[in-house]
This record gives sequence, structure tokens and C-alpha cells, in this order.
Amino acid sequence: AKEIFMFEEGNKELKALLGGKGANLSEMTRIGLPVPYGFIITSEVCVDYMKQGEEVVEKLKDDILESLIKVEDKVGKSFAASENTLLVSVRSGAKISMPGMMDTILDLGLNDNNVEGFSEQFNDRRFAYDCYRRLIQMFGNVVMGIEHDRFEEVLTAIKKEKKIKYDIEFSIEDLKNIIVEYKKLVKNATGREFPQDPYEQLFMAIKSVFESWNNKRAITYRKLNNIPDDLGTAVNIQMMVYGNKNDISATGVAFSRSPSTGEKKLYGEYLKNAQGEDVVAGIRTPREINEMEKEFPGIYNQLKGISQKLELHYKDVQDMEFTVMDGKLYMLQTRNGKRTADAAIKVAVDFVKEGIIDKKNAIRRIDPELLIKIMHSRISPNAKKINRVIAKGLPASPGAAIGEVVFTADKAELLGKKGKKVILVRIETTPDDINGLAQAEGILTARGGMTSHAAVVARGMGKPCVAGCNELEIDLKEKIAKVGDVTFKSGDIITLDGGSGELYLGEVATIEPNLSEEAKLLLEWADEFRKLGVMANADTPFDAKKARSNGAEGIGLCRTEHMFFEKERLEFVQKMIMAGSKKDRIKYLDELEKFQIKDFQGIFEAMDGLSVTIRLLDPPLHEFLPKKDKIKDQIGFELKRHNIDKVKYLEKMLKKLDALQEVNPMLGHRGVRLGIVYKEIYEMQIRAIFIALIKRPDIKIKLGIMVPLVADINEFTVIKDLAKRIELEEIPHSGRKIEYEIGTMIELPRACMVADEIGKEAEFFSFGTNDLTQTTFGFSRDDAEGKFLHYYLENKILERDPFQTIDVKGVGALMKIAIEKGRNIKTDIKIGVCGEHGGDIESIDFFNEIGLDYVSCSPYRVPVARLSAARAEI
Ligand code: ADP
Ligand code: MG
Ligand code: MG
Repeated sequence: AKEIFMFEEGNKELKALLGGKGANLSEMTRIGLPVPYGFIITSEVCVDYMKQGEEVVEKLKDDILESLIKVEDKVGKSFAASENTLLVSVRSGAKISMPGMMDTILDLGLNDNNVEGFSEQFNDRRFAYDCYRRLIQMFGNVVMGIEHDRFEEVLTAIKKEKKIKYDIEFSIEDLKNIIVEYKKLVKNATGREFPQDPYEQLFMAIKSVFESWNNKRAITYRKLNNIPDDLGTAVNIQMMVYGNKNDISATGVAFSRSPSTGEKKLYGEYLKNAQGEDVVAGIRTPREINEMEKEFPGIYNQLKGISQKLELHYKDVQDMEFTVMDGKLYMLQTRNGKRTADAAIKVAVDFVKEGIIDKKNAIRRIDPELLIKIMHSRISPNAKKINRVIAKGLPASPGAAIGEVVFTADKAELLGKKGKKVILVRIETTPDDINGLAQAEGILTARGGMTSHAAVVARGMGKPCVAGCNELEIDLKEKIAKVGDVTFKSGDIITLDGGSGELYLGEVATIEPNLSEEAKLLLEWADEFRKLGVMANADTPFDAKKARSNGAEGIGLCRTEHMFFEKERLEFVQKMIMAGSKKDRIKYLDELEKFQIKDFQGIFEAMDGLSVTIRLLDPPLHEFLPKKDKIKDQIGFELKRHNIDKVKYLEKMLKKLDALQEVNPMLGHRGVRLGIVYKEIYEMQIRAIFIALIKRPDIKIKLGIMVPLVADINEFTVIKDLAKRIELEEIPHSGRKIEYEIGTMIELPRACMVADEIGKEAEFFSFGTNDLTQTTFGFSRDDAEGKFLHYYLENKILERDPFQTIDVKGVGALMKIAIEKGRNIKTDIKIGVCGEHGGDIESIDFFNEIGLDYVSCSPYRVPVARLSAARAEI
């Protein structure tokens, strides 16, 4: 296979082979953008290199040299020569972008002999020697493995001696000195001289780029981002252009839209008289790109034009690297920009509005889970009034974070792994901090811009980040930080708001998040395409409101047992359970009825105009009594207080608890079985539902009553008859017209097999996939998770957790049987699913495929379900 591609030979489709960087350099060359010329060694060569080692490069030597000659011919310069010297960069670049994780070497090709000649070409010795010292530093660090800090020490020492602050202030003599010191450092640290032969430099650099595929931080990054280890990296060899040449030269990075919010505006930073890494390395604080509009309006407009051209070409936000040499713009990289969930959604919606993509395309682009990620907590507006903002930085990645201050990545990792919430506070982060960034709740840096390392990584991980908080002074030795008159130290709590860039001392109150306008619009589009209805599981008016605001079409499952657990009524629930006779039981049920009427009214009010399906009581009664030990403690306590009546009551409770105890409560006296034996309980619930509606003639609800855990048609009929009787007792004389449907949960394998019989009587089915999974596998969910399921998953006995994603083969097959049987009997019987699978993306795909009418899921996952249902259709 072809192992080397000149830039004009590649294109953007060849990412796997040429790496993202190489493929896009090729593409930019093809569409006529100003790209310094070069060639690409494919990632397949890297894969071979990993298997066979150095000989792979040796064999390719002639081809590489031939390609280099092509570059020389095209640009009219000569590598290794003293006149018209060609310098190149050797750049890594894999199929999937791993920014800053692997190696790149600049200014390659200089040595003691040609540096003087090189300087004459530019008539600028300072610049030439700056390039040479950069080469030794980068090469020494990247290829020869000498720590970056040791070079910095040399620089710092000379800066101190000369009392200068910035690199650009070095004189030629200073630079020459630095070069001497650097070479000594290389010799001392490695026992080898810095290679003077440019060709040796080139081949060493190529091998080093291949090897950087397997350096520690690249491996960590791949693990964190689920990138396969066997892709390998391509190597790009490209003519150098010099942003460090003079004051009408610069280097920079730019986004075609904000990677944090998605706002349409050129975003980024540039640094005059600087090269490559200087922008992100925080050597000098870069300027925001909008300043370029004033400083170099021509370049700015050209860059903006290119940015728009690239966006249209790639139909996506672009993250670009560029260099200006002598007032001329060169493009050095472009890729689809990483972005926050917020930005992803805004961009997709804006692209539709701008006519770049269509609605379907926008829907396909958004991973439904992003709709959960955009639900960041925000600082409460009230808290903003009370708490003082102690400093402001750049809003680099949205969300509020509260945590303990730590100043090192290792400490962040240590505490984070113990479950502590920490905020990593750094002057600037580097790829070596990745372990700490991964564990931190939020990130705060004193230097760096929107495209600094910390900002990029935080956005990738969806963590709040405030970057470039210039007022922040960090003393790493003392482990304290200062902003104005405020100091905080390691271990103190701070709060940061990555959406506004604000920093607060202590813990500041946050509020529940909402969907953005763009997300709402995207979901409206999704609604146009989906067939599957989306309902919510909601048990309280609060949840019902949440569900409604997230776009649920109704409540598909309202679990009444949650109402029984509420504080002030639990006492009546317990007395009801302990009642010695039916008469007594009814007395307490009457009390409970009052509560239930109110509960239902609240929910109906929140869902006015929509449908509400209420499930009758499901869990076994013993769940409502306290645990044995608790009762015993309470008895001891009451004895001390001489409350004999209470003691007697508690002893009775203990007895009752014993009587109710089941060996296997999951398969015990619960669901419809409870309602059949204690009809008065279901009677109370059904009556409360009707009365709630009768009392509120202003509210319109499509009512459903749902019977849980039915295995046989006779069970269902008993409850249906009960409902009919209560209907006749309550409704006709009330003057209120109430229509309702009575249906059943399908959550037992037997129910699936006799769904035709059940379907004769039931007006709807709702698959309770949690119980159906339990009973199909014979796994008790509560026992499985802790005891063996994790082992099953780790050892691939099961591919996936059936409680998370529906088991298509088993549970799914039963569902299909039930659907077929049900619809054979009653063609238009409404069939849905409730239970956690209703909000799971992949399960929704399946539910759509087997023709369910609706899913019902947690109110928080309603947006996810709406989008997933649309994606399942298009
Ligand atoms: P990374 O993958 O870590 O971003 P790059 O290969 O993109 O590494 O190189 C980093 C930076 O070095 C680039 O953004 C660019 O500024 C600079 N650079 C790379 N090649 C050249 C070149 N041929 N001329 C000028 N600058 C270059
Ligand atoms: Mg780059
Ligand atoms: Mg169930």
C-alpha cells in the first residue's frame, strides 16, 4: 500500500490512513487555502513500526528523501543547506484527534553550520538563533527525553541575570549562550550530542513521533476517551513558516464558533512574534482574536473568511491553527471543534437555521445523552445577591462546581478517588495533569485562554472550568492562592461558575437546571419525526410539572406507593396494616382516602389536558412497617419513658411484621394479589381517583387505571369489576362525566403468554420491564447487582446489564409475543412500556422497532426519550 502521500494526494476522507491532521491539511491544500507544503507518512507505517521496530523506518528512508526533494522543488528551498534553508516540522496526528498528547517537533534542520547562513537569508540573526534554540529545546525534550523544566531552568537563569521578563527580549548573545547551555544539558542528560546532521534529526524525529503513540499520557487519554490502542499515528512533515520572525508575524488558534456556548463568532487567541506552542504554553498571555481585527484587519478578515469557508465545507464548527509570517496568513491545521453539550446543541440548531444542514441531520448529530449533560446546575440568582464574586475569569466550560481547593493534579486524583469533591486550582494545566483533571469537580486556572489546555480538556469531560483568571496569584510552596484581598488555601471550599467565569469563596447555593431554547427547538423538531409517544413516570405534582416542562405527553406510570410513604400518612398506613378486622382497616383507609384524593388532585392539576395513568398499590405490605431492629430499639426507648401503651403497640407491630415476613417478597404477596385479598385497599384508591376528578370539574384528564403484576385474566377481571362497581357508586350521580381506561401491567412471563386472554378485558398494556426482566431471568434485581451481575458483565457472561438495556433476545421476545397476541384480539390496544428501559437510548430503538405506542420514563429523561424516538425513525 501507498505509504507516503504528498499533501495534494490526500483528502478529508482518508483520516484513518493519514490521521485527522494530515487528511485535513490535504483537504485544505486541495481547496486552495494557504498551507505550507509537505507530505504524510501513513498511520499504517506506525502500526508496522509498533510491531517490527526501527527497520520499518530504515526501509522507508529512500521514499521519505524522495518526498522531501519534492517539497524542496516545490518551495524552492533546500533541506540541510546553508543557503535558502528549508526547515520542517515533524507532526504527529492520529485518526481521532488527541490534542497535545503526542509529539511534534518544529524548526527541524538547523545546526551549528547552517544557522548563520539561515540568519542571513532573513537578515535577522536574532530570529535565526531563536529558532535554533527552540529546536534544541523541543528536540531535546521530545526526542531525547529530557524534562522540559530543565530547559526552562536555563532560560530562567539567564532571564534573571539579564533582568528580563519575556523570551522576545533576549539579545543575540543571550540566545547564543542559551544554545551553548542547551547543548551541554543534552550531553549531560543523555550522554549524546545534539545531532548536527539534519537528516539524522529528521529520522530520529519520525521515530519519536511513532513512539509517542505509546507514551503514558497518550495511553491515558485513549483510555479516558475510549480510543482503540491499535490505530497508530501518521507523521506530517511540513515546511516551516515562522510566526516568531517579527512583529508582523504571529501564531494562533481559532474556533469558528464558541466551543463553550456555540455562539457564532470567531473565537481564539494569538500571540505576536511567537511560534506554535507559545500560545497554549502560557509563556506570554495571548491576545483575544477580536483584537486582531484592529491590529491586523486584513489578516483577521481573511481568517474569518477561511473559517466560514471551512465551516461550510465540513458542515461543522472548525478548530483551526494558523501562523502569520511577514503579514501573510498560513493555515496549519483544522478539525471539527470539540465542544460542550450546550454548544453542540446550539450549533446543530443554528446550522439548520442557517441552511447548512437539515433538521434530520441536526437530530442525527446530537447524542441524546447530551440533553442530560446540558442540565448543569447554576448558581442561584438569589445566592448571587448574597455572595460576593471574588474574581472573574473566562467562562471556559459551563456548570457550577463546589469543592475543596487542591493545587496539584496528584492530590486531586488522590482525594477525588476517595469520593471527595475537589476543585483543581493551577496556574495552567499541562497534559501531565490529566489524572487530576479527570477526578476534579471543577477546574480553575490563572492563565490561558478559551483554547488553553485546561479549557479544552474540561469541555471534553463536561466539567465546569474557569480559565485565565488573571487576578489569581497562586503560591504553590505555601499552598495558598490570593485574589485581591481574599486568600484561600488548600482544603478550603470554593464555588466556581464555568458559565459566567465567576469565582466565590465557600459553598454557594445552586439551582435546578432547565432546557435551553435551542434544546427545546431541537426537541420540537424531534417530535415531528417520532412515532413513539413519550410519557413520564411521575408520582408527585413536582415530578409531574418537571415532566410536563420537559415535554412529556402525560404520565404513563404514577406509583401510588410513594404517596403511602409520605411522613404524615405513614402512621395511618401502618395502623391500616395492623388492623385486626376489615372494619378497623376500613376506618384507617378512610383516613388515607382523604390524603389520596388530595394527592391525585395535585397531579391532575399539574397534568391538566393530558393523560394520567395511575397504578394501584404494588409492593408487599411489610415494606411499610419499620425494620425489626428499629422497632426493638423503639420498644427499649418507650420502656425507659414508661410509655406502656406505645410498647404494646410496638410489640403488636413486631408480631405483624413477623406474620407478613416473606421468604421471597419479590414474588410474594404484592401487586394485584394484594388488591384481591384486601379489596378494600384498591377500592379506596379507585374511589379516591374518581372523587379527585369529581371535585375538580375544571380539570380535563385522560385517565388510566393500571393493575400491577397480573398473571391471569381472572385476577384482572376481579379488579375491573371492582372498578365498575365504584364507578357506578360515584360517577353517575356526581354530574361529572368521567371516562377512563382500565389496563394492566405486563410484567410476568405468563402474562405475555396469555396476553390474548388478558387483552379481551384490558384496554391497554404497559410493559413493566424491570419486573419482566427479573422474572424472565429469574434474577432478583436487588441481589443480582451486588452479588453476581458485575462478575457476569466483567467476564462477558452477559454482554450488558439487562436492567439497563433491554434484553432483546429473551425479554424482547416475550414482549413481541405479548404484542402480537394482544393486537390479534384488539387491533388498536394501546401498548407501552414503563420502567427504566423507557429512558434508555438503545432500548427505545428496540421499542420503536416492535411497534410500541409509547414509552414512559423518568421526567429527567423525557428529553432523551423524545430525541431517541426521533433518531429511531430517521
Ligand atoms: P498538536 O497536535 O499537539 O496540536 P501540532 O502538530 O499541531 O501539534 O503542532 C503544534 C503547533 O506547532 C501548531 O499549532 C503550529 O502552531 C506549530 N507548527 C507546526 N508545524 C508548523 C509549521 N510547519 N510551521 C509553523 N508552525 C508549525
Ligand atoms: Mg495542533
Ligand atoms: Mg413492577
